Amino acid sequence: MLHITVTAKKSVDPELDGLGRPFVGYEAGMTPDEMYEANHGEWAVGARAQNERFALFSFGRTVIQAVEIESLELTNEREPDDTRDHRYTIHGKILSNGHPVFDKYVGKPTPVSVARNPVRYFNDEELDGGSGALCRCGCEGWTTRGDFIPGHDQRAIHERIARIGTVAEFLDWMDVVRPASLKA
Ligand SMILES: [Zn+2]
Repeated sequence: MLHITVTAKKSVDPELDGLGRPFVGYEAGMTPDEMYEANHGEWAVGARAQNERFALFSFGRTVIQAVEIESLELTNEREPDDTRDHRYTIHGKILSNGHPVFDKYVGKPTPVSVARNPVRYFNDEELDGGSGALCRCGCEGWTTRGDFIPGHDQRAIHERIARIGTVAEFLDWMDVVRPASLKA
């Protein structure tokens, strides 16, 4: 799941906001539509968001909204010389009472640890569709079982070898850091 921590309600310049909003963030008393409007963009969500079905939004360590993601729209494309990430707007359906994601998370404590980056991901094995864990190769895909998506263990090994150099160089390096025999 995608998890986004929103700020307290604050004014923004509608001219600079990709959605033309006068403010973003959360304040008590907002309706679900108002929360969605103020917070569904614009986020540097990264490629992994393409695979996520649900987005949670938290304010002050409490989940305030759950959305079933329908599409991601690039609404704030950076200039080529701008090293910051492109920003996307999340379009989807606001979930309500009775939906398992809403019932499990909304109004409850934020399920991810505190971090500087407002965009986080976590895996809900039950509700994300039975996926296992993040693939250890670093591809950000989910495994169905074990540590790797099939074939990605090879990818991970070869990436390590390439860090050292050729396979021969890797063997030389390995024999130094972990000799086959402990005889001096
Ligand atoms: Zn992988």
